[in-house]
Amino acid sequence: MTTIRHHITEDLLMGYATGSLPQAFDFVVASHVSLSDDARARLETLEAVGGAVLCDMDGADIADDSLAKTLAKIGAMGPVMAHESACGVLPAPLQRVVGGDIDKVHWKSIGRGAKQCVLHSDDDASARLIYIPAGQAMPKHSHRGTEMTLVLQGAFRDEDGHYARGDMEIADEQVDHSPVAEPGEACICLVATDAPLKFDGIIPRIAQRFMNI
Ligand code: ZN
Repeated sequence: MTTIRHHITEDLLMGYATGSLPQAFDFVVASHVSLSDDARARLETLEAVGGAVLCDMDGADIADDSLAKTLAKIGAMGPVMAHESACGVLPAPLQRVVGGDIDKVHWKSIGRGAKQCVLHSDDDASARLIYIPAGQAMPKHSHRGTEMTLVLQGAFRDEDGHYARGDMEIADEQVDHSPVAEPGEACICLVATDAPLKFDGIIPRIAQRFMNI
């Protein structure tokens, strides 16, 4: 059974419930929610409260179509209530994007055995799957915006802790880290960013252009 130690923050969950996150972040939240009973319960509470607030506002201060838009957006992501399929690596919302499980992902090599697959990219943010061989380090970097990382297989460690399947790490301008895949199994993560990362050193910066992250 998955034991999730690192959970999503309330503001991001609220952003998801109100349909105000960039779509790339929606992918990560929907995936986390489908792996985490705790996040699912918190989201249901927020949606219940949000629905009540929208009804109370009597349409005075909100666009007529904002609730409809939010519901359409949540509907488009599919039912977050769906439990993860018994043996899938990808949670249900990602399986809908990829058209199957991990064997259907079109990986591109990014060097040293690492691979990525960009699932979504627009002016606001991008979301990608990243595959890091067991025991391998990612280049040390900091952030210009928000980076959400959800572990789907294996585990990684950085200066802030150990992250395994279902765990979510949220990094921002204050965080400077060097994630390292734990030994034993390749680490596969879903990563969304809304601004380019800042890498130390020339080689990672060249790789960054290649990865477009
Ligand atoms: Zn990072």
